[in-house]
Amino acid sequence: MLNKDHPRYKSLLYREKIVKAHDAGILADSGMIAHGRGETFDYLIGEKTTPNAKNTIDIAACYFLVAENPVISVNGNTTALVADEIAELSKLLNIPIEINLYYRTDERVLNISRVYEDLGITNLLGTNDDEFIDTPDLNGPRSPVSIDGINKADLIFIPLEDGDRAEKLTINNNKNTICVDLNPLSRTAQTSTVSIVDNIVRVIPELIDSIKKHQNMSKDELNDKIKSFSNEENLSNSINDIIKRFK
Ligand code: ATP
Ligand code: MG
Repeated sequence: MLNKDHPRYKSLLYREKIVKAHDAGILADSGMIAHGRGETFDYLIGEKTTPNAKNTIDIAACYFLVAENPVISVNGNTTALVADEIAELSKLLNIPIEINLYYRTDERVLNISRVYEDLGITNLLGTNDDEFIDTPDLNGPRSPVSIDGINKADLIFIPLEDGDRAEKLTINNNKNTICVDLNPLSRTAQTSTVSIVDNIVRVIPELIDSIKKHQNMSKDELNDKIKSFSNEENLSNSINDIIKRFK
């Protein structure tokens, strides 16, 4: 039993979720290591959503509301930590969830798809290899994308994506990407269109609230907010927040 008074209580709780997901065949071994890398940066930002991250989440909400074909790409880590909230986001916007794994095995795809099916998600892509195509601009084990998902999408939400893919999706495939990555220096954060530097467990509930708040704004107003945003400035603010903590 975890002790609620422990100063790292929440962090330990998320670790427990990660271990359980690994045991349940949802998370690959390397997913546990990726989580550890995230923990380090969360410690450095103070384990809270900074005002800069909050602003970036608002911009992400605007992107979702103006996009024509947005898709949510999920992997093992995202599923382990925030499957409920991802399902809620998908239902709120009425958009598909694509299972897109770096280490894709039939077993993991099945285990992850069960999680979302149990949460009432019917618009689930990437469950069947037949609906995948190879994209010429993506190399490596994660090159295939769902024909009706990432392939068609104009906006891809890629929480915890690998850097190579983030770069290729954004730059070579000319798509808008929104990533969630605690490390402002990772290639994922550096190459995405919008990089939310915060823990996924805090981001998704905040993003859902923000979408609800922005839902009645006109497309012009939303686009004005988008135009006023600079991801370069966002990343520089995120790095400065870490430097301030060190000082
Ligand atoms: P990149 O491939 O983008 O250059 P990387 O190779 O350093 O980055 P990976 O191991 O591919 O990183 O993926 C782990 C990334 O996910 C890390 O940058 C880490 O900070 C981030 N991460 C892990 N857990 C979380 C979390 N709970 N919330 C947000 N980000 C997280
Ligand atoms: Mg990587």
